[in-house]
Amino acid sequence: MDPSAIVVAYGNHPQELVPLVLDAVGIADRLDPNGTIGIKPNLVVAKSADSGATTDPRVVGELIRYLQHHRFNKLVILESAWLGDCTKEAYRVAGYESLSREFGVPLIDLKEDAVRRVAVGKETVAICERALELDHLINVPVLKAHCQTRLTCALKNLKGCIPDAEKRRYHTVGLHRPIALLNKALKTDLVLVDGLIGDLSHEEGGTPVEMNRLIAGTDPVLIDAYAAGLLGYQPSEIDYIQIAGQLGVDSDDLSSAQVLELNQPTVATPLVVPGRVQRLIDRWVDENGACSACLGGLIHALERLDSQPMGLGALETKLAIGQGYLNRSGSGVGIGTCTAGMTRFVDGCPPTAREIIEFLNERC
Ligand code: SF4
Repeated sequence: MDPSAIVVAYGNHPQELVPLVLDAVGIADRLDPNGTIGIKPNLVVAKSADSGATTDPRVVGELIRYLQHHRFNKLVILESAWLGDCTKEAYRVAGYESLSREFGVPLIDLKEDAVRRVAVGKETVAICERALELDHLINVPVLKAHCQTRLTCALKNLKGCIPDAEKRRYHTVGLHRPIALLNKALKTDLVLVDGLIGDLSHEEGGTPVEMNRLIAGTDPVLIDAYAAGLLGYQPSEIDYIQIAGQLGVDSDDLSSAQVLELNQPTVATPLVVPGRVQRLIDRWVDENGACSACLGGLIHALERLDSQPMGLGALETKLAIGQGYLNRSGSGVGIGTCTAGMTRFVDGCPPTAREIIEFLNERC
């Protein structure tokens, strides 16, 4: 696979999606079968994946099943929860203890690990030794927004590979440059993004949004540039993506990326969302059989627009979305190709939050 390729599969069944994207990436041909492979989920807090905060253990379980099937047997899961939270508790609450027992893969608490300083040019970053000693690192972040950096996905997830003292330092000096430097020092071999459920605005979850997709690739900078658009941001709005590109971690040129969608989003799920998301939908959306992947993008777009100076009050009308609008004409504004019969509509199946925002800002 071309290093600039980004593979996307829609749905909410990891047992189908994980082998699909891993086959497409060709990961079994990229790893040394005798090497130790570290799997780094996002277990920033002790919460389950349906909160939008943590990596779904079913995704990691299917990743392990795939790797073991291809005779990669030296596997470990490693993590260090955020400051003030206990990694072992995060492993337990998020379902990783049973995962570890089922597959015989050890859980490493990096809070207990030794630390080594690694030079990146004239700067240094402190990284946990067990992460540095790996032969391969598979990064399995969650696609979610972040109250300080706007996005947390591949690049920021490696912050769980550093000691707590270094986490404190990052917050003192500003998160963006250290995150980029860390990714220069610690190479990722594969990024497998859990885009099933992420959070609307915070890394600790609590406002979950179903996005129903997995995203895979080998370039973490490019993956984050792509992920930014899914949450309604330009890559240029996320400083650490820019800095990582400048440092040569990998390419941040999304225009050269090949996005390979392996299937179409067809999952229509009932809306089970907490208060804030439900209020946005009630006020601004006419939903009729919308795929979660499509509705999730629209929810992120509405949240980003709501934070703009003009807010959502400038919108003229509710937005139509869903397969129920297929082959129907109407005078309103539609989101996604299903609403092509409306007077104005955002093309895409599904459109990204960024595309929705640009359309609404220009046309509505
Ligand atoms: S455009 Fe239609 S089919 Fe495509 S994701 Fe949206 S609702 Fe689903």
